[in-house]
Amino acid sequence: MSESEKLFQRAVKRIPGGVNSPVRAYGAIGETPRFIRRADGCYIYDVDGNQYIDYIDSWGPMILGHNHPAVRESVARAIENGLSFGCATEIEVQMAEFICERIPHVEMVRMVNSGTEAVMSAIRAARGFTGRDKIIKFAGCYHGHSDSLLVSAGSGVMTGGIPDSAGVPKGCVADTMTAAYNDLDSVKTLLEREGSQVAAVIVEPVAANMGVVLPEEGFLSGLRTLCDEYGALLIFDEVITGFRLAFGGAAQYYNVRPDLVTYGKIIGAGMPVGAYGGRREIMEMVSPVGAVYQAGTLSGNPIAMAAGLTQLTLLYEHPEIYRELEEKGERLYGGMEAILAKKGIGYRLNHIASLGSLFFTDRNVRDYVSAKSADTAAFAEYFKAMLKSGIHLAPSQFEAMFLSTAHTEEAIEATLEAVEKYFSAV
Ligand SMILES: *Cc1c(COP(=O)(O)O)cnc(C)c1O
Repeated sequence: MSESEKLFQRAVKRIPGGVNSPVRAYGAIGETPRFIRRADGCYIYDVDGNQYIDYIDSWGPMILGHNHPAVRESVARAIENGLSFGCATEIEVQMAEFICERIPHVEMVRMVNSGTEAVMSAIRAARGFTGRDKIIKFAGCYHGHSDSLLVSAGSGVMTGGIPDSAGVPKGCVADTMTAAYNDLDSVKTLLEREGSQVAAVIVEPVAANMGVVLPEEGFLSGLRTLCDEYGALLIFDEVITGFRLAFGGAAQYYNVRPDLVTYGKIIGAGMPVGAYGGRREIMEMVSPVGAVYQAGTLSGNPIAMAAGLTQLTLLYEHPEIYRELEEKGERLYGGMEAILAKKGIGYRLNHIASLGSLFFTDRNVRDYVSAKSADTAAFAEYFKAMLKSGIHLAPSQFEAMFLSTAHTEEAIEATLEAVEKYFSAV
């Protein structure tokens, strides 16, 4: 028995499913999760000493690669002063200024500890600001695991049914309406019916939790127009896309200005961090200035701020990183597409910059329904073969691949060889 298998046997006795987040389980694949000891650059190493090229990248935070020396050193320096004070610190001010001075649609920002918390709080601020209760989300978009957003919530919960999770009272999701991604008419219909009660439309501007699904031409700008027409706020959940598609996230990439934006993942560089921000008049609704209560014992934690600010500074000071990620994405995802095209196999590869998903379907994947047409059993076979070839993918058809600047040419070539080998055999 491998060390991972031994650890998993122990884990399942004391941790539900043996994992602290369901996306880490290999249940859909019929395997045991690999327990990780360390990671460096684009490589991750399990407790059995196996090396993999990692495309999970901690689900996005490691955009500069694992164990980045500057990030690690900033944490080591910060630790010397103590781990947490629960009091105001200079680095929180630096972080807030850094973001607000560089991202035009963020005039004020509040730090929290996870993406879930960021989105939950942004929704509360939107409701407090508008005095309205209803929200519109999109099927297949994931916004964390707070009660009111666990409706058709994508990847980890792609099990169907409303609400998706047991333990969520009907009342908690009564004000959550669901529209279809890339379908402005479905949003319009909801707004025509209940527009005067809608506080916000929340969207992943590039969906990455039902696999990667790109917004079609006019979708995001159409949401902006509809929100303005009905007095609803537009919230971009940029927990994945923020600082990834561009420094200013999808809002910058697509040139559409949201009222509020949520961040996570990259903003913490691997530490537990989230943030929400946007228009000043909305953010001034948040306590202690306004009546929308939101708090956090560890929010703005100095160690987390040090890691996050170091990573954001590197990203901002090296804008060529974004061109580099586009090129690497083209080489990897374009290379995969070329292999599939050569074999004449009907798969769909959705990709943008460093994000990509190979869907085992011959349908154009543009929303939740088409994403769900993917053959998850075929994905499981592919996943297992790739793992055997030393390629570490997310164990689900409905997750993205994350490229980092640390993915070398050799690593990308090795990945393409593994893909080619697999599809030559099937
Ligand atoms: C990961 C994710 C979240 C939740 O963030 P956590 O830090 O896991 O709570 C929210 N929204 C999107 C788009 C995400 O990808």
